Amino acid sequence: MFRIEFMQRALNLAKRGLGSVSPNPAVGCVIVKNGRIIGEGYHGYFGGPHAEINAIESASEPVSGSDVYVTLEPCSHHGKTPPCAERLIREKVKQVFIAAKDPNPLVSGNGIRQLKASGIEVHVGYMEKEAREINRFFIHYISTGMPYIILKAAVSLDGFIADTRGNSKWISNEASREDVHRIRSRTDAVLVGAGTVRSDNPKLTVRLVEGRNPRRIVLNRSGSLPPESEVFAAGTILVTAPDAMSREKKSRFIRKGVELLEQSGPELSPLLKSFATMGMASILVEGGTGVFSSFVKEGFVNEFLIYVAPLVLGRGKPLFDFPPGTMSEAIRLSGRDTRICLRGL
Ligand SMILES: [Zn+2]
Repeated sequence: MFRIEFMQRALNLAKRGLGSVSPNPAVGCVIVKNGRIIGEGYHGYFGGPHAEINAIESASEPVSGSDVYVTLEPCSHHGKTPPCAERLIREKVKQVFIAAKDPNPLVSGNGIRQLKASGIEVHVGYMEKEAREINRFFIHYISTGMPYIILKAAVSLDGFIADTRGNSKWISNEASREDVHRIRSRTDAVLVGAGTVRSDNPKLTVRLVEGRNPRRIVLNRSGSLPPESEVFAAGTILVTAPDAMSREKKSRFIRKGVELLEQSGPELSPLLKSFATMGMASILVEGGTGVFSSFVKEGFVNEFLIYVAPLVLGRGKPLFDFPPGTMSEAIRLSGRDTRICLRGL
């Protein structure tokens, strides 16, 4: 019999792997015998053992005859690790409760078929919504070949991201900054435009919570930013137009470990595709107006995360300077699969 608390436990375990397993999905697993948990595990890091294996190995007694709760369909293919479906069969478990099918169209359903073929009872779809929510970056990435894009901004009540002089630091508060650092630690990359680097000189690292730093990406077609900016460190990607910088300036970036990426057109689509190829399943876009506008214009935002401060500016830098401001040309997001999350400060 299915018990919701065990699947909830498996979902909570899955969340622990968020960020460090990408571009793999986060998965949790709980093994139950005689109504109590005898083993549990989660996928902890990219290339590491899967949740099912960790759960089996942690078990306090033989897992034969047990019920297995797993948040994603057990894998059936030989990847970096041997397939989990085979192991579950070998361990002679009795039933497997699966929250969500594998969203990868190339393998979806194969694990379930293998388990069923060997006589294991398989039940699919329990708490599926919650499981898909945890892995929404991965699901988008694997099904479209593009990274999941979160647009994050802190705005005044009247929708400005900075005052007329470009000051913006006071718009966010301590709680929202911590929130942002947590999201950074779970996304594969953080992306900003040149204006944000110039006005805020941000590090874009994770400091206020525990967690790993994301890749950093700076869009600066003219190549005008100084290599001394805080954001330029080992692993940062700087995107410019071809030959925007002198050889001498390029070598100053390269000496700092910055990766230079030259892109001929200003379109985001080929750029995002190449980031996906580099294994980035999610990107947090943090500013500013020009970059936000391009992402919205080209229709790449999957999730808006907007912090609204109790503050009226009257004039300032807008969140978007596109579209041109008529109802007929407005960008309508309703009906699309876009999440809009407004948080009051
Ligand atoms: Zn597996």
